[in-house]
Amino acid sequence: MGKRKKTSTFLALGSVVLVLVLLGWFLCVIFEGEKPGIALRPLPDFLSGSQEFGLTISDMKRGLRILEVSVKQGRREISVLEKTFPFKGLLNSEGIDRYNTRFSIDPRKLNLAQGRVDLEVRVRDYSRRNGGDGNLSLIQHKMVVDTIPPAIRALSRMHYVNLGGTGLVVYQASSDTVESGLFVNDVFFPGFQTGRESQRGLNVCYFAIPHDTKAQPEIYLWAKDKAGNLSKANFYYHMRRKRFQTERINITDRFLRRILPYFAFCTFDPQLSDIEKFLKINQELRQENNSVFYNLRTETDPKRLWKGTWIRLKNAATMAGFGDRRFYYHKGQKVDEQVHLGVDLASLANSEVQASNNGRVIFRDRLGIYGLTMVLDHGQGLASVYSHLSEIRVAMGQEVMKGEVIGLTGQTGLAGGDHLHFGIMVNGVFINPVEWWDSHWIQDNVTRKLEILDRE
Ligand SMILES: [Zn+2]
Repeated sequence: MGKRKKTSTFLALGSVVLVLVLLGWFLCVIFEGEKPGIALRPLPDFLSGSQEFGLTISDMKRGLRILEVSVKQGRREISVLEKTFPFKGLLNSEGIDRYNTRFSIDPRKLNLAQGRVDLEVRVRDYSRRNGGDGNLSLIQHKMVVDTIPPAIRALSRMHYVNLGGTGLVVYQASSDTVESGLFVNDVFFPGFQTGRESQRGLNVCYFAIPHDTKAQPEIYLWAKDKAGNLSKANFYYHMRRKRFQTERINITDRFLRRILPYFAFCTFDPQLSDIEKFLKINQELRQENNSVFYNLRTETDPKRLWKGTWIRLKNAATMAGFGDRRFYYHKGQKVDEQVHLGVDLASLANSEVQASNNGRVIFRDRLGIYGLTMVLDHGQGLASVYSHLSEIRVAMGQEVMKGEVIGLTGQTGLAGGDHLHFGIMVNGVFINPVEWWDSHWIQDNVTRKLEILDRE
């Protein structure tokens, strides 16, 4: 008797414990406190136009109940998205626990005002918590509506630019501008703010009309603000067409025998003949070298470093001009065609080379067909190039003054004799240096335009 009673008491107690445990588990499950997850991308600081967002919400326990997306501006609240997920199966076991969606917010369509706006995402689950409303997850993302493009306008007036030459525009950009400059067709030339605090928004932009521009180019000012709004502005300009010289160059076997040892660093297919090696140098290596020059544009100082007319190699004859089209002949056959992107100046062998203007050394090295080469940055995108040198007398990064001896002429690289190959680049684009040796040209096209900065 005693033993049986003990057993039944034990069973009853066990059942009660079991029921309590089950009830506890059940309550824990239906009243679970885990909030739904929300992942929203991207999270932009500004809204300048229609913006698409990707949203992933999840609730791995009781499942998703409600999703609400809205934008709030002042007292306005605009619903963007609302979705209720059905309750399915025992304890919503067949409900939705993960949901992906995309939505767009267009400040114009929603008639939002400029300024602060909040994007709000609210998600509830099927937990019985919070009086049956479920667990709430909420994220708020602050943005600024800015759909007004920056203002940009040219202050300088007449812009007569030669094909293969340089132009300068002085322009004003509104204070929200973060990047501005000028496009010549699809080539971008950055503008540079002039340093003075009182002149904020005043910019100078040197640009080039590349020598191979076919028709009248489309040239316009361009600005971007921090919200990503873009502006374009036209200004008056006129491009003068220019006829470049042509030159016939005979490649003799003697020339090849003299020149090829210098290019021993090139790994040629041993099957190639000397003229085939020459063509690889003249085409592929030339292109590679020119991209090294182009990449130097990012090294420029935002301030103007140069002053006055530029110096040309003393007592030198011009052996080849900028933009010359060179036709290469071998044994009477035309084998190649290239454009000369600088001016060749010949004086006595190993003549002293002076810095053409104030600047800083941004390149000094052997550079393929150009031989021993040095590049000076003169600020605001302008740079000068000195090639085929026999010696360089300045260090990398060194500041040099106009007229300072920076090296000696030579015939390193692809050079037929001792000469200086001199080039000027505007934001990495080679232009005709002759303009910069002409004080009248500088006065009319640069100095007069820069005087606007003193008047404003
Ligand atoms: Zn040259």
